Amino acid sequence: MRYSQTLLPTLKETPAEAEVVSHRLMLRAGFIRKLTAGIYSYLPLGLKAIRKVENIVREEMNLAGAQEMLMPMVQPADLWVETGRYAKYGPELLRFHDRHNRESCLGPTHEEVITDIARKELHSYRDLPINLYQIQTKFRDEIRPRFGLMRGREFVMKDAYSFDVSDEAASESYRKMYEAYKRIFSRCGLEFRAVQADSGAIGGSFSHEFMVLADTGEDTIVVCKDCEFAANMEKAAVVMQEAGDTTPLAELEKVETPGKRKVKTVCEYLGIDSTELVKTLVFKADGDTVAALVRGDREIEEVKLKNLLGVADLEMAEDKEVFDATGVPTGYLGPVGISVKVVADQEVAAMKNFYVGGNEKNYHMKNVNLGRDFEVEAIADLRQITTSDPCPECGGQLATTEGIEVGHVFKLGTGYSESMNATFQDSDGQEKHFVMGCYGIGVTRVVAAAIEQNHDENGIIFPLPLAPYSVVIVNLGLSDAEINGAAEKLYADFQEAGVEVIIDDRDERPGFKFKDADLLGIPYRVTVGKGYKESGKVEIKKRKDGVVEEMTPEDALNTLQERIQLELNESRNI
Ligand code: ATP
Ligand code: MG
Repeated sequence: MRYSQTLLPTLKETPAEAEVVSHRLMLRAGFIRKLTAGIYSYLPLGLKAIRKVENIVREEMNLAGAQEMLMPMVQPADLWVETGRYAKYGPELLRFHDRHNRESCLGPTHEEVITDIARKELHSYRDLPINLYQIQTKFRDEIRPRFGLMRGREFVMKDAYSFDVSDEAASESYRKMYEAYKRIFSRCGLEFRAVQADSGAIGGSFSHEFMVLADTGEDTIVVCKDCEFAANMEKAAVVMQEAGDTTPLAELEKVETPGKRKVKTVCEYLGIDSTELVKTLVFKADGDTVAALVRGDREIEEVKLKNLLGVADLEMAEDKEVFDATGVPTGYLGPVGISVKVVADQEVAAMKNFYVGGNEKNYHMKNVNLGRDFEVEAIADLRQITTSDPCPECGGQLATTEGIEVGHVFKLGTGYSESMNATFQDSDGQEKHFVMGCYGIGVTRVVAAAIEQNHDENGIIFPLPLAPYSVVIVNLGLSDAEINGAAEKLYADFQEAGVEVIIDDRDERPGFKFKDADLLGIPYRVTVGKGYKESGKVEIKKRKDGVVEEMTPEDALNTLQERIQLELNESRNI
């Protein structure tokens, strides 16, 4: 490709709206342009990088025995009503009516559509196992689209769905996908980790997420320093230490706390530690008001609370909503005698004689005890794990790190096949429900994650397998027949050799061209300039380490062709 003929609108300035480096660099390198919130056009080089990821995904999915197909983006609401998800999915599902007033939605995921295909087209155990996948545009009306391709509303996903005769066979399908995912992300040149995950709106019995390790990740991962345990923080179970607290229950008292509404100020005022106090946090859970109790120094884990309550939508209640539901001003709410549903973290159930809000302005209560002074509807693990907690698997030391979720594999079981009545005839003649799994990769997010992990102050440093081009030739002698001729010949030779090459044939200053070459992150730069006239040599520069070598154009061609082939082969055989 010729630079002069491609749409590559690079920017010198850093766009103000971009908060993370991948978003900034993708805008600056002319890879993407925003149409509206969370919706982007992929310009030619951006699309090339996306296609690279797609092709790696496709190759590995095919190798793992999955078959590619393509499902529609527009889906009838009826299918979602069958699984109950039309009511449950929440506002991320974009719903609309067509001209015949039929209710429809834009697919955020395709379990319903694929299960509909399975129940119509797969009849016998002989048709199984089967794994069907697609690479397709998804739409999720994300509440906070941000970070460019990292969290779009419209984005490209690879989603695969497996159908098996039994739970055991489904585990094998899951294992195959898990292994394929490891190969895919390794081939993309990413540093990643597979972690235990929450199943969220997709449902099912267990799941793993594939996390690219990066500071800008929106997820926190908990890993054990002593064993293999790794989990998304939302999923990591807190293991309770033995309680064994035999302190006698003291008499309930009201204490004055004038104007003290925050845990910190209440504790300072009363001269107590935050571990002696219980916070009462109020949420709107699918429209209902629910109070959740955690120790004063703990954070609630909303995903755990959501799972306990079995709701789709959970958010902190506004001060006014809390007042309307309880009659208590902010900062003074406690569980004793309130009328809303209360649930407690397991740690609270083990505490004795603690402090809570007094349900009255300027008052708290002292010596409060669950069971004696108030009851709760449920006691469960509701708080965020910390690095002071023991590893839930081995009791070892935990650490946390940030990650970007690029893939997610789920064991679904028979939830979808039962609600949609999707069955096959087994070898014993019985009609049985398919045992399903589903497996997603955020293709566009992978490109962003790769840039988060591979860049420097000058721009992107693409891992070769994802680079839009392997080589950029910088022609510094457009008006010099000798230099121009050598650059053009080298360009033609690289093309003939099957190397993906772009030539910078623009009439621009050398510094300008070098800056763009660095920004785009093309792994190898070949400069044909004055030096060629003097010594017959061109300059090769590797983007990753900046190492420069000089050699004849013929040697440059052979050397790079060989290196690129070797690197690509190595990435395939990991
Ligand atoms: P998240 O927690 O980041 O919202 P999710 O759990 O909703 O992700 P899945 O339903 O598992 O995501 O979708 C499969 C994959 O699609 C994810 O692993 C992620 O890589 C990608 N993905 C999900 N939402 C987005 C989005 N808004 N923009 C880009 N990629 C996304
Ligand atoms: Mg999501």
